[in-house]
Amino acid sequence: MKAQPTASHFIDGEYVEDEDGAVIESLYPATGEVIARLHAATPAIIEKAIAAAKRTQPEWAAMSPTARGRILKRAAEIMRERNRELSELETLDTGKPIQETIVADPTSGADSFEFFGGVIAAGLNGDYIPLGRDFAYTKRVPLGVCVGIGAWNYPQQIACWKGAPALAAGNAMVFKPSENTPLGALKIAEILVEAGLPKGLYNVIQGDRNTGPMLINHPDVAKVSLTGSVPTGRKVAAAAAGRLKRVTMELGGKSPLIVFEDADLDSAIGGAMLGNFYSTGQVCSNGTRVFVARGVKEEFLSRLKERTEKIIIGDPMDEATQLGPMVSFDQRQKVLSYIDKGKAEGATLVTGGGIPNHVTGEGYYVQPTVFADVTDGMTIAREEIFGPVMCVLDFDGEEEAIARANATEFGLSAGVFTADLTRGHRVADQLQAGTLWINSYNLCPVEIPFGGSKQSGFGRENSLAALEHYSELKTVYVGMGPVEAPY
Ligand code: NAD
Repeated sequence: MKAQPTASHFIDGEYVEDEDGAVIESLYPATGEVIARLHAATPAIIEKAIAAAKRTQPEWAAMSPTARGRILKRAAEIMRERNRELSELETLDTGKPIQETIVADPTSGADSFEFFGGVIAAGLNGDYIPLGRDFAYTKRVPLGVCVGIGAWNYPQQIACWKGAPALAAGNAMVFKPSENTPLGALKIAEILVEAGLPKGLYNVIQGDRNTGPMLINHPDVAKVSLTGSVPTGRKVAAAAAGRLKRVTMELGGKSPLIVFEDADLDSAIGGAMLGNFYSTGQVCSNGTRVFVARGVKEEFLSRLKERTEKIIIGDPMDEATQLGPMVSFDQRQKVLSYIDKGKAEGATLVTGGGIPNHVTGEGYYVQPTVFADVTDGMTIAREEIFGPVMCVLDFDGEEEAIARANATEFGLSAGVFTADLTRGHRVADQLQAGTLWINSYNLCPVEIPFGGSKQSGFGRENSLAALEHYSELKTVYVGMGPVEAPY
C-alpha cells in the first residue's frame, strides 16, 4: 500500500524535494506500515516557500473578488469530483474509517472553498462614514503572507479551513501539516493550482515542532493560525508576540455535554457517542464530560453500553467499519494510560477499557470506552484525552451542572440536551464556550463561526468571522475643504 507523494513539499506551483531535511515517515495507523517517506523543511525550503508567497500575494490581492472567488469555487468542484480518491488518502493519512472521510473530510474542505469563494465575490466591503463636510471610508485589506499549522485529526479540512478564508481575503499561505499526517495538504495545494490559483499562493511544507518556529519567526510572515494543543498554542502565541504578529488559536478542550431528565434519550446518547467516538475520539470539540441527570442515569448508561458495544471496529477501508485506529502508537499509549488512571482513581468502567482483541495486526486500535461515576477531580475528567473515552458524571440540579461544566480552564464547546426550550437557551447562555449546541452535537458547517474561549484559543474559523481574522481595517479620512490650522 503506497501513498507516496511526488515529493515532500509543494512550493510555487510544483513539488519540491530537499533530502537534507530530517526524514518523516508516514505510517498507516491501521497496520503500522510505512506508506510514504518525506523530509522536513530545511531553512532553504522555508525561505523558498515564503519568498514565493510574498512575491505572488500583491498580484492576487489586486484581482477582483469575483475572479478570486471563481478559482476557489473551481477548487471546491475538483475536490468533490475526487472525493473518493481524497477520502482514501485521508484514511491512509489518519486511519479514520472511509465511512467518515467520504462524508466529512474533503467535502467539508470543498464547502470551505465554495463558501469563501462565494462570499468574497459579494465583497469584503468597508464602511462610508459621513463627517459633515468631510468623510471617511474603511476598507479591509489582506495581511500578506499567512502561516497555517495543522493538527493530525482533520488534515485536509484544516488545510482548507485555513487556506480558503486566507486566500479569499487576498493573502498567500504557507501551510505546515502535522508530521503525523503529511499527505492530504499536498493534494489540496495541487488542486488549487489546477483550479487556476496563481503559483506560489498556497504552499505546503513538511516539518514538526522544530519547523514551526522557523515559519513563525520569519520577518515576512504576518499571521499564524494554529490548530493544536494548548501547550503548543502557548509556545506559538509567545513566538508570534515577539513580532506582534496576528494569531488565531484553535486549541484543545474538555467540553461538557449536559443531559437533562426531559431530554430525548436516544438523541442525547447519539449526540454523546458522536461527540466521543467519531474520528476515534480525536476531535477537539468533543463533549468528553457528559453530565447526566441522576434520574435518567441508569437508563442512559444501559442504552449507551448496548449501542457502544455494537460499534464496528476494524479495517478503515471497509465501508462497514465505524471506528478505526488512533493516529499513532504514541497517541494510543497515551489514551490507554488515561484509561488506567480512570480505573485506578475509582471510576466505574461501563464498557471498553483496552485494546480490542478481535482486531489483528499492528494497528493502533483502542476500544470505545465509557466510564461512569466520574467525579470532577479525577484526571480523566480534567485533562484532554483525545481518544474514544467518554466520562459520565451525575448531577442533580441545573445550577450545579452549569457551575461544574464551567469549572475548567478550557472553553471550546458545550452541549445541552433538553425538551425545555427556555432551559436549553438559558443553559447555553451560561456555559462558557465558543461553540454550543442545543439538542445536537459537533456539527460545524462552514456557515457558522467555530473557535474557542478561555484556554481553548481565540479567533474564529469558518463563516464571515474568519475573513476578519485574515484581513485588517484601513481607515481613510478625506478632507473636502481647506485645512484650518491655528498657526
Ligand atoms: P500539537 O499541538 O502537538 O501539534 C499541532 C501542530 O503544531 C503540529 O503541526 C506540530 O508540528 C506543530 N507544533 C508543535 N510544536 C510547535 C511549536 N513549538 N511551534 C510551532 N509549531 C509547533 O497537536 P496535535 O497533537 O497535532 O493535535 C491534537 C490537539 O489539537 C488537541 O489538543 C486538539 O484538541 C487540538 N485540536 C484543536 C482543534 C480546534 O479547532 N480547536 C481542531 C483539531 C485539533
